Amino acid sequence: MPTVSWSAAGIYVHVPFCSAICPYCDFAVLVGNARKRQDYVATLIREIQLRAESIDRLGAVDTIYFGGGTPSLLEREQLQVLFETLASTAHLTDDCRVFFEANPEDVTPARLANLHALGVDTLTLGVQALDDDALAFLGRRHRAQEARQAIRLARDAGFETVSFDLMYGLPGQDATAWRQTLDQAVALAPDHLSCYQLTIESRTPFDRAVRERAWHPADELTQAELFRLTHEHLRACGYLAYEVSNFARHPRHRSRHNQKYWHHVPYVGVGPAAHSFDGRERAWNERHLAHWQRHVQAGRIPIAGSESIDRRALALEMVMLGLRTTDGIDLARCQRRLGFDITADVGRRLAEWVADGLLIREAGRLRPTLDGLAVADTLASEWKLPEDEQCLTETDA
Ligand code: SF4
Repeated sequence: MPTVSWSAAGIYVHVPFCSAICPYCDFAVLVGNARKRQDYVATLIREIQLRAESIDRLGAVDTIYFGGGTPSLLEREQLQVLFETLASTAHLTDDCRVFFEANPEDVTPARLANLHALGVDTLTLGVQALDDDALAFLGRRHRAQEARQAIRLARDAGFETVSFDLMYGLPGQDATAWRQTLDQAVALAPDHLSCYQLTIESRTPFDRAVRERAWHPADELTQAELFRLTHEHLRACGYLAYEVSNFARHPRHRSRHNQKYWHHVPYVGVGPAAHSFDGRERAWNERHLAHWQRHVQAGRIPIAGSESIDRRALALEMVMLGLRTTDGIDLARCQRRLGFDITADVGRRLAEWVADGLLIREAGRLRPTLDGLAVADTLASEWKLPEDEQCLTETDA
């Protein structure tokens, strides 16, 4: 297992526009028009400039992530100016990786060539399903054939990593149907796959439909079966999980950017609802586009709130996030960063989890097995930290 060095920081750029809002989505997104997108890019550039000092303090930056929303709705010139602003503000490393989310219906050879020329390394397509009925249920704007074509075009365009997202746990979806989808996905030969369980977020159209009993989401047993099938089947096809929902054909295709979130590496986020983390404090931007815009246009960094990550909070997150990754919890790193032994008060329970085959203790790490990954959140909630007052002091990170 390669050891990853986390010395360089990341930048996240949020693009909140979508051509329509999917009924399960609770992200900070809206349907915009060309004029709104143009205004948005101008404000985004202003926010990057307002944050120049904190971006400078990040030091070396080796990932930029364009997420949303739908970044692929932006025009070539808009992306160009965003790239130039970031390049002139941040200390980008020579091997800085650029991640970009796109929806299949926006993909054309010309757009892909443009993204590749701008320096995008990893293209992530919001495919979600590979049959038209499932796509219609999810309220997506593309057809299965369009998704397949987009993946092929992305592979031909020469990106270092082509990834796409799939969703499982749709009503009525059984193991046979999901295995077929996975087989179809693997046949398209992506470098990376993300497979998410459909979750019903409150105050979404899906939430209302479920409460009105229009349809029933998959029950817990089915979800658990599909989760296991996803991991076992993709492993057999050569895609190794490195996180609960993420699979890579080779370790170099793992998302260098997303791993920063899991390892508490500093990052700056720009755009509505974007989060930033400086090693001590996590802050988040105004979620509402108009509020965010008003702050930035008045020359204020558009922070809506923040939380200090003290040692105890950091320890809890290290446990929670570590248990969701196959690299697990690096005990020496925790000791160094926290100043105390993260396992000191969980000893007996830990021994039971190891004996029950949920965790493996090896090479200074606690790694979840597949059974452990399936219950990672439960293990984290049962983890007991030392009640020492040193847990409550500020981090040195
Ligand atoms: S395309 Fe993605 S971000 Fe946009 S509404 Fe659908 S799920 Fe949300």
